Amino acid sequence: MKERMVDLLIVGAGPAGMAAALYAGRSLLKPVVLERMSIGGLAGTADWIDNYPGFAEGVAAYDLMESMHRQAERFGAEFVLDEALTLTRTDAGFDVATAEQTVFHARAVIVASGAVPRALPLKEEAKYRGHGVSYCATCDAAFFLGKQVAVVGGGDAAVNETLVLAKGSSRVFLVHPLETLQATQVLVEQVSGQTNVELVAAATPTGLRGEGKLEALIVRQASGGDRTLAVEGVFVAMEYTPVSNLLQGLVEVDAQGYVVLPETTESGVPGLYVAGDVRRKVLKQIVTAVADGAVAAQRAAGFLRRAAGKPEGSAPA
Ligand SMILES: Cc1cc2nc3c(=O)[nH]c(=O)nc-3n(C[C@H](O)[C@H](O)[C@H](O)COP(=O)(O)OP(=O)(O)OC[C@H]3O[C@@H](n4cnc5c(N)ncnc54)[C@H](O)[C@@H]3O)c2cc1C
Repeated sequence: MKERMVDLLIVGAGPAGMAAALYAGRSLLKPVVLERMSIGGLAGTADWIDNYPGFAEGVAAYDLMESMHRQAERFGAEFVLDEALTLTRTDAGFDVATAEQTVFHARAVIVASGAVPRALPLKEEAKYRGHGVSYCATCDAAFFLGKQVAVVGGGDAAVNETLVLAKGSSRVFLVHPLETLQATQVLVEQVSGQTNVELVAAATPTGLRGEGKLEALIVRQASGGDRTLAVEGVFVAMEYTPVSNLLQGLVEVDAQGYVVLPETTESGVPGLYVAGDVRRKVLKQIVTAVADGAVAAQRAAGFLRRAAGKPEGSAPA
């Protein structure tokens, strides 16, 4: 087991973690950022970002995330591909043990572990996952060119997935649980204007069918009766499950597992901050995740200066 001492450890390299790394770097904290999958987080799985301020024509999600990554590195942040397995309090701060057998002794920690899409709640989901059932249109749309597919979900993510698929699939059924879509109005208008998209309102998936490969999604409609949608792909973009397991026992979480904290991101445990989509908030977007990350880093920097007996100083500029 290797051991490393760091002032500030950040868990998660999504938008919240990368903004925290940038702000912490500019406070000369040399933060280390742990990322278990890929730098960019959930935002990195999107296709195109049209609502991040400063990009008049929009920006490819990958380019935006890569730019945040390089910007944080420019100010001294170190990114490590590794998974935080446990987070424990110690007299000196926190110990974070990782999958690659390192224990980080950190004086302060920012958890920016995000949220993951909820799995389709059908018993056949496991059988078809990766064989027709997908959680990422940007990653898998190319397998369904010219084919019929369905998207399940009714918020921004579901509509975004539908718009990506509508570019290449012959027909996209957007199966959503309520009578109306819950997405941002501009997205609702965009998707309503697609000639190859059919909105299947007030419908709930009840089964997947197909011999060898996926051939149909069965949905139950609130108006009564089942409907069989002949599709080769089902893209799931429903609610999210927060990744808050590291924080269990340390910080209060709500019934869904979201961390309940004010926008200061302060956890109540000195030196521990929680930023981004893992925190319960009214709007889960890149712009709010980066705001959280910046606030968390600024609070952590003040905490570390106070702990070192130095004047707190002004916010990093
Ligand atoms: C298809 C899709 C399209 C979207 N489109 C937009 C859009 O157009 N505009 C917009 O503003 N938002 C969009 N969003 C939402 C946006 O992606 C999220 O709000 C944002 O990514 C949240 O950032 P975050 O840093 O809080 O979490 P995440 O992006 O989820 O990042 C968290 C990171 O932490 C890592 N992690 C978790 N646990 C550990 C651990 N134990 N150890 C190490 N690493 C860990 C994860 O692997 C992940 O990389 C979209 C989302 C989806 C799914």
